[in-house]
Amino acid sequence: MTINPAKTCQPVGAMYAALGLHGCLPHSHGSQGCCSYHRSALTRHFKEPVMAATSSFSEGSSVFGGSSNLVTAIETIFTVYNPDVVAVHTTCLSETIGDDLTQIVSKAYEDGLVPEGKKVIFCNTPSYVGTHVTGYSNQVAAFIKFFSTATPKKKNIINLVAGWMEPSDMREIKRIAQVIEARIILFPDMSDVLDTPLTGKFEMYPKGGTTQAQLIATGDSKFTIGLGAYTAEDACVKLENKCKVKFEVIEIPIGLKATDRFITSLSRHANVPVPDSITEERGRLVDLIADNSKYFYGKRVALYGDPDTLIPLTEFLLTLDMKPVYIVTGTPGKHFDESMQALLSEKVPEAKYKSGPNADMFQLHQWIKQEPVDILIGNTYGKYIARDENIPFVRLGFPIVDRAGHNYFPNVGYVGATNLAIKILEKVLDHFDRNCKEEKVEWQL
Ligand code: SF4
Repeated sequence: MTINPAKTCQPVGAMYAALGLHGCLPHSHGSQGCCSYHRSALTRHFKEPVMAATSSFSEGSSVFGGSSNLVTAIETIFTVYNPDVVAVHTTCLSETIGDDLTQIVSKAYEDGLVPEGKKVIFCNTPSYVGTHVTGYSNQVAAFIKFFSTATPKKKNIINLVAGWMEPSDMREIKRIAQVIEARIILFPDMSDVLDTPLTGKFEMYPKGGTTQAQLIATGDSKFTIGLGAYTAEDACVKLENKCKVKFEVIEIPIGLKATDRFITSLSRHANVPVPDSITEERGRLVDLIADNSKYFYGKRVALYGDPDTLIPLTEFLLTLDMKPVYIVTGTPGKHFDESMQALLSEKVPEAKYKSGPNADMFQLHQWIKQEPVDILIGNTYGKYIARDENIPFVRLGFPIVDRAGHNYFPNVGYVGATNLAIKILEKVLDHFDRNCKEEKVEWQL
């Protein structure tokens, strides 16, 4: 039994990733209810309107299949909304019926419903297996299948496959690459799509997103760095198989050590030195950690969310001398368990961690009740535990629906790690000030 799962469904991830392609309209092949839920999950997190279309299954299509719905939808979408690309993903219902997207989309092309220069891509996202993380990965891998092309001319460019992170994180990754003068293609890229300025003018397709030309060119890059084993590795493997672009997969650069690995990898593969300005950013982070070590030291932390975030986050908490004692992710996979074992077995042998459908918020709450923690880190759903147990709560991950600004400030890179450390510190000190004895209230750090 699962109570309050630490995950959401596959198409949410596919829809999010599709928004990182410029001029793309995600299309949910299933009922209106699925599409509304996926759109609203993203809209509530990003506080931006998320556009997507649906095949609008009725009772008839649920029995006989949604082929004609999708063909009609493709015609309507290009006529009314005029995207450059339609990215179709399936849902539980269309997968159960067994709709064959290859055949349906081919028919739409054959019938001349896809205008010249436009494209329909697709991926399978059956939500009775995997999670939003799997859906994201499947969509990013579909970009390779439909776009990446190898020509005889290799270019001195590094592909960066962005795992699930905020638009602010993608902006920060691009800034770092620019500062160290590495030529990159980042995909997907939701910056300037889901963090756009208010201009008073509605843009159905904002200026951001990886372009089709960039995606095609990924086949000619000299190397690929995947950021996140769960969300980026599949795309890296497919690109190597299709276009012979070698790759390495490292963690999303959350925290000091993961950022060190990212900067080292990028600088090595792009063959560029690390400039002083980046070293100085690192130095400021180390200074902050050293100055406040007595507040971080030994604090017990419970965290939950997506494995690609939790693995480097756990490592960062250890760097801060904190104790990550309970960690759960609803996304299944051996890599999480192995990484946690490697990170925690010596430093925090009492730590409990779990992945998969039974690793739920209820389990996490029970562990906290048995032996409390000093801080809780995760998405909005943890607020009930934080409130019940009076624990300082840092919001991080997806979804965050009850606060704003998480898509504006990065958590990646040295600057992001500094933001994150300050967020944790604020919560710890606020809690201390509110709950300590009168004579213990400090007025300076
Ligand atoms: S779990 Fe399946 S039925 Fe439910 S919203 Fe997701 S795709 Fe639709």
